[in-house]
Amino acid sequence: MSITAPYPDLDELTAMIGEAGRRLSEIGASEGAAGNISVYLGWPVEARRRFPSVETIELPVAVPELACGCLLVTGSGRRLREAIQNPAANLGFVSIDEGGRTGRLYTSPLRLFNRLTSEFNSHLAVHQDQVRATGTNFHAVVHAQPVSLTYLSHIPAYRNETDLNHRLLRWQPEAIVNLPEGLGCIPFLVPGSAELMAATVESLRAHRIVVWGKHGVMARSDQSVKRAVDRIEYAEAAAHYECLNLLNGEKGEGLTDEEIRAVARAFGIGQKIF
Ligand SMILES: [Zn+2]
Repeated sequence: MSITAPYPDLDELTAMIGEAGRRLSEIGASEGAAGNISVYLGWPVEARRRFPSVETIELPVAVPELACGCLLVTGSGRRLREAIQNPAANLGFVSIDEGGRTGRLYTSPLRLFNRLTSEFNSHLAVHQDQVRATGTNFHAVVHAQPVSLTYLSHIPAYRNETDLNHRLLRWQPEAIVNLPEGLGCIPFLVPGSAELMAATVESLRAHRIVVWGKHGVMARSDQSVKRAVDRIEYAEAAAHYECLNLLNGEKGEGLTDEEIRAVARAFGIGQKIF
């Protein structure tokens, strides 16, 4: 999927990120400065009026397939909930140079961060992988730390995809409709590491949201930032049910496999989980 002209302007794009950050905060998925958001734009964007300062940066991973595209990215240590009030203070605009090894980082005099998000390598690598696979000109990536999902990832029984998806997608009939590929699941890997980046890229090829063991989630969308956040919210609601059920001595039945298959058939959802 691609976005067609007329393209959203810079204010609309920063507002999308701001609203997404506010929602993540409302659902308890971004305490303090946790979480980060980036959006890849494959069309020319004039950002210098909002972000007049410019510096050359070395990108944490080479992204030749994104060359000449640009990104809006949250700053390291910034609170996602505050981006909506003051996008220029909390976001940077990166124009990727030819070759994809360096970029020009445009920022505002209001800037309240030194570096872009520490997970920038994973954001870039996922954008590149999806752009390569689909040719999209728009791609959003969101990292957040929803409490119930993250808590479950501390329990060994929830650290494989088969069990995780069977247990989570049974609590609401819409779950299989909203998350037909289920959740990806990768073990704990050091934040910001090349290992986390590689595992995330691989998992987000088959899923639109991946659980980072003992840490949080990363979600993607080629439609909007809110779609990526919606996916986090659906998965977190499922995890909340699961946590309630654990606390209640597992008295809940959940939908049966056959009930979930019936929902999938009725809604025309191709799924391989149940
Ligand atoms: Zn994190």
